[in-house]
Order: sequence, then structure tokens, then C-alpha cells
Amino acid sequence: MEDFPVSTVEMVCLGTSMALSGLFFYIYRKKRKTVDKLNEAPRLPLDGKLADILNSTPGKCLQYVVIEGAVQPVGEPLRSQFQEGTVGVVQKLVLKEHKLVWNGLARTWTDSERILHERVSSVPFDLVGADRAAVRVLCPLEASGLDAEIVHEKFHQASYGFTDIIGQYLSGEKPKGQLETEEMVKVGAALTGVGELILDADRTLKLRPPTDGSTFFLSPAGYEAVRLEQEGQATLWRALASLCALAGAGVLLWAARRHYRRLRAEREQDRLRREFKRMAAGEEDDDDDDDGAEPPANACIICMSEPRSCVLLDCGHVCCCYSCFQALPHPTCPVCRQPIRRVVPLYQS
Ligand SMILES: [Zn+2]
Ligand SMILES: [Zn+2]
Repeated sequence: MEDFPVSTVEMVCLGTSMALSGLFFYIYRKKRKTVDKLNEAPRLPLDGKLADILNSTPGKCLQYVVIEGAVQPVGEPLRSQFQEGTVGVVQKLVLKEHKLVWNGLARTWTDSERILHERVSSVPFDLVGADRAAVRVLCPLEASGLDAEIVHEKFHQASYGFTDIIGQYLSGEKPKGQLETEEMVKVGAALTGVGELILDADRTLKLRPPTDGSTFFLSPAGYEAVRLEQEGQATLWRALASLCALAGAGVLLWAARRHYRRLRAEREQDRLRREFKRMAAGEEDDDDDDDGAEPPANACIICMSEPRSCVLLDCGHVCCCYSCFQALPHPTCPVCRQPIRRVVPLYQS
């Protein structure tokens, strides 16, 4: 790992940010494609001429179109379980449990909810426009964006006695109650559908999920709302992808900076070593006449044999030879214990 410029932790960070960036970019591309298809989709008026338009289209099929109309059930509509006289074509009944759960980490009670029961049902329905022209909607439950209207909402408060309270403190869970909701796409409501429009053999128009994998939309909010929401999501995913890519680039830059600093420090050390060697070689030439038994007067205080050859900075002590300086366990001056920030060779002439 010594030569490798990126550490394991950095490698993990880099890998994670790159993988997330790739994933977010992939989602963004998909969303972008949906937005582009929505922008290109023709908005066809729902009237008597629509069947003729399809009749003259090859294959009697339009891949991706926007149709707006009023909801009309084909047979018997669904009746609201809670609101008298309310009828619809899509019904969603949800029972949710709300409770407080003790969070040991934050040392507080936090809200938590869980779906106890969910039932979605639908009956066949048409979108009706001018001239009593109608388009049958197939597979409405596969559509995205189908936010039905809430027709009933009731919270049933949990009631408990003294022993329950003790039990709650022991288990760390306090039930708050149950929320019962009923959502419905009502008969007569305006609905916008985006999907594949076909003309069947019996001359009925049908809107179905696109066979090319594009997103099927049914929305009570209208075409513009669907388009804006998809565009907003695309922008969000792109921002997330860029953020992760930036984080990855940051990790790389950090590793490169550290690698560069280490290279520079190594080069500096190398230069010093060479310089001290050159100096030592010069002094040996001078010492040729000596018998070599007596230590020099300015001998290194550590090895007592080599001449002192380093100036330790910032304290400025001249007390050791270069090889002893290199062998110091900590970069502190052996005389005064001040940290050594730099060492320069001492030239004696
Ligand atoms: Zn020495
Ligand atoms: Zn010192």
C-alpha cells in the first residue's frame, strides 16, 4: 500500500461516490426521457373527430398522447364506505397505525407509522369529452400520478389504562391510534391521461399503458402539473448525480495533494542526504593525516565519532551528525527537546 497514492478509506469513498453518481445519473436520464416524451406528446381534443383521426393512422394506434376528459363509469360505480352518496371509479382504503417509539440514541419519543391494511379497487371507466366521445381507460392502477381525492379521514385515538402505561415504558412503544382514510377518483371528476391510444375493432377508443415502456400517467391535476413534477424530479436527480461526482473528484484531489506533498518531502530528504554525504567525503580527505584513534573535538553527542554536521532549526543547536539525526526516534532536538522543523547542513571551513 506504500506506493499506492490512494488509501483504502479514500478508495471506499471514491467508489461509493462514483457508484452513487452513476446510479443517480441513470435515474436522471430515465426521468429526462419521460419529460422529453411528455413534451413531444400531442394533446388531442376528446371529441367526435378523435376516432376518425385514429382510423386514418397506420396501425390505428398513437404511441403517446395526452387525453383530457371527465370520469364516467362503464357499469356500476364504486360506493364510498363512509360518505353517503359519493361514487367513484377508483377507491383506496388505508388503515395506518401511528405510534411513538422510544429512540435510545436521541433519547426522545419519535413518531412512527405502519400500514395495517390497504385495499385498492377499481371499476372500468371512460373519459368523456365533447360530442359524447369516450375513451376507455385500461389498467388505471398501473398509472403513476393518480392521486385520488380524500373523501374520508378519521383518527381513532388509542385509550389505555395504568398497566398499559407501564408496559409501554418497558417495551418502548406508545400507540397513538389508527388513521382510517378513504380516497376516491369520483365520477364526473376531470382526469388527464397520458398513454397509448388505440382504436379497437369494435370502434371503441382505448387508452392503455404504452407498450414501449414509457410511463403511463393518470392525473387529476392536469397535463402541466404532471410535466412540471417530472421536470422537477429530473432536476433533483441531476443535482444529486453532480454532487456525488464532485465529492468523488474532491477525494481524488485530496489524495493527489497528499501524494504530491510526500513526494516533495522525499525529494527534500534525498537532497539533504546527498549534501551531507558530499560534506562527509570532503572531511575524510582532510582527516587523512590523523591517526583516527582520537575522537574529533566537535564529535557528535550521540555516536561520539562522527563530526557534528547538522544545524537543527528552530532551536539552532549543532549537536549531532546527519546519520544520528536520521536515527532520532522523534523529531525533537536531543539537547533542548524542541521540535525540529528543518535541518540544514553545517559547513566548517
Ligand atoms: Zn552521530
Ligand atoms: Zn536544541
